[in-house]
Amino acid sequence: MPVLIARRLDEALDELAAHPDTTVLAGGTDLMVELNFGRARPARVLAVDRIDELRQSAGGSRVRLGAAVTYARLLRDGAGSRALEEAARTVGSPQIRGAGTVGGNLGTCSPAGDTLPVLAALDAVVVLRSARGERRVPFAEFMTGPKRSVRRSDELIVAAEWDDAGPAQTFVKVGTRNAMVIAVASLAMVIDRARRRVGIALGSCGPTILRAPDAERFVRVLCDEAGWDRPLRLSEAERTELGRLVSAAARPIDDVRGTSAYRRHVLGVIAGRALARLGAA
Ligand SMILES: Cc1cc2nc3c(=O)[nH]c(=O)nc-3n(C[C@H](O)[C@H](O)[C@H](O)COP(=O)(O)OP(=O)(O)OC[C@H]3O[C@@H](n4cnc5c(N)ncnc54)[C@H](O)[C@@H]3O)c2cc1C
Repeated sequence: MPVLIARRLDEALDELAAHPDTTVLAGGTDLMVELNFGRARPARVLAVDRIDELRQSAGGSRVRLGAAVTYARLLRDGAGSRALEEAARTVGSPQIRGAGTVGGNLGTCSPAGDTLPVLAALDAVVVLRSARGERRVPFAEFMTGPKRSVRRSDELIVAAEWDDAGPAQTFVKVGTRNAMVIAVASLAMVIDRARRRVGIALGSCGPTILRAPDAERFVRVLCDEAGWDRPLRLSEAERTELGRLVSAAARPIDDVRGTSAYRRHVLGVIAGRALARLGAA
């Protein structure tokens, strides 16, 4: 099995153009598991974790996070999103965070991928590049099913980009234990006070990451009434209604990690917690 360790982006894109059966390798924390269990048999491998352009990030009003930025690096240098940092902190163990990348999370595209609800709630764009040019795909159109995306075989995920949404954003994950765990249900909530925008996205609760548009509308009305610059204090009735709207947006299944009913219950609880946390932010 030929393995090319690319050092330049153009070199990697030429390799993908010439051999579309190539499997991309970043940190290997998903791919090596597939190889070890015999579920993947790549014809060729292209390692992209040494390509500078994929390891670079930029902050400011428009945030850009390179695909090959590891969770450890993101936590050390900052990600331009508090919710993304919270999500990164929950991924695996220090070893997994040292090798695993956001691009790999997008490449695997599991409904349980921890960065994905955050990218959805931020209205992030996934930047894809091939030798033919660049495509910028809104996250809502990127993921098409469990472990399926619109990425073409000759394209690399080069970055994710989003508008800085300010401090009122959070990620909450519930698993079967408190660490080293795949989410039973997760939720990202963003209240962008400057743009008067609310994003709520759910993980592990459907075939793709799901948005909760009715719940987003409900929170927008609460912010309109309270004033977008003021702390938001939730009544018990409002918290219950938010939980109901978020649960209703889910399309969960029963599996080894939890039942559909439990997932809906969890979502209702963590939605209230997330909003209480953000109300003060
Ligand atoms: C013990 C353990 C615990 C884990 N815990 C968590 C967890 O808590 N939360 C979570 O979300 N995940 C978890 N994971 C899964 C994994 O760590 C993450 O999905 C991680 O982000 C994968 O990144 P990677 O760089 O290792 O990807 P890789 O394994 O290198 O690649 C993953 C997939 O993405 C593709 N790919 C990678 N980079 C690119 C690119 N730039 N362009 C195009 N395609 C690309 C690869 O071809 C492959 O299909 C865990 C894994 C293990 C083994």
